[in-house]
Amino acid sequence: MTLDINAKFEQIKKDSSNIAGYPTNTNFDYTDFYKFFQFNINNVGDPYDDNLYACNTHEFECEVIEWFAKLLKSNGHHWGYVTHGGTEGNMHGMYLAREVWPNGIVYMSEETHYSINKIVHMLKMEHIIVKSLENGEIDYEDFDDMIHMHRDRPAIVVANIGTTMKGAIDNLQKIKAVLKKHAIRKKYIHCDAALYGMILPFVAGAPQFDFSAGIDSIAVSGHKFIGLPIPAGLVIANKSHVERVKTSIEYIGAHDTTISGSRNGITPLMLHRAIHEKGRDGFQALVDQCYTNTKYLMLKLAEIDWRSWVNNHSTTVVIERPPEWIVRKWQMAVAENWSHIIVMPHVDKSMIDAIVADLKIERNRW
Ligand SMILES: *Cc1c(COP(=O)(O)O)cnc(C)c1O
Repeated sequence: MTLDINAKFEQIKKDSSNIAGYPTNTNFDYTDFYKFFQFNINNVGDPYDDNLYACNTHEFECEVIEWFAKLLKSNGHHWGYVTHGGTEGNMHGMYLAREVWPNGIVYMSEETHYSINKIVHMLKMEHIIVKSLENGEIDYEDFDDMIHMHRDRPAIVVANIGTTMKGAIDNLQKIKAVLKKHAIRKKYIHCDAALYGMILPFVAGAPQFDFSAGIDSIAVSGHKFIGLPIPAGLVIANKSHVERVKTSIEYIGAHDTTISGSRNGITPLMLHRAIHEKGRDGFQALVDQCYTNTKYLMLKLAEIDWRSWVNNHSTTVVIERPPEWIVRKWQMAVAENWSHIIVMPHVDKSMIDAIVADLKIERNRW
């Protein structure tokens, strides 16, 4: 059978207007970047270095990193790069953590993203899976017990800044209080902020998770809240940690500070455009809109008695698992009896009404 590329185009076009359960903003248009598709653009190497391969977009990549570093309240001593997604950012953070504390123990929760599980195996890092609370946050008491048991070892903590399924935000102040209580001075905090790293900076009163709160590294997605046609993300870390990795591999004659060798040079251009076109005010408006629509969704679900709840500062609405046809139609993620609707910028009132209308059909059937 020969695959039909035009049929594929039509199918994707149709299905991309029905994404309610995956954290990808579909509101974007980067078609004016087509002209770059005729060149072999490659951002190989450290974006901050001089590079012999001239067909790169490193200066745009650096500006993107600087914009995010400011947003995440870096004191200026940072380093970062545009990754191929959230997983690569997490991997870089964990790699640095292992180089800093080779005999450290990784603390992650039951609700930590599956990428971290894979990464600790790949990097052969000893790890402990801490219990999660009902709402998806890390269980601070269990964390306290685990730290107490291993207080002679450095602690590498993965803080979930928005868990995938429940949008729960681990409280860094509480995590730091536990470390302090047990006098753990050898510590490293990596924030997995794939989705909420682009939301919480625009929310007054949200839990702190940035460099001013003493984190060591953070991974944020580019294709999630911002929206991109190609997966991308970024990782930013305390510069002193990166210096360690840098010197250890300098023998190859270049600063091979990134995980991938050849890297995407198109996504930094798109991210650069997105952040400059919208600016902080634009993202602020988008975040406000998402919270307004989250409230609207909760109201509509209550009207039809569909069981649902949402964490504080979250736009991930956890709902009782709908039947298969609804899950498929709206591309909702599922876990056991639960599913979720993630209110991204493209999930507007009319889309919410359409989803709720489908749920109502089922509710009436019961
Ligand atoms: C999406 C997500 C990731 C992984 O990102 P990819 O771009 O799919 O690699 C990691 N952590 C969290 C919390 C996520 O939501």
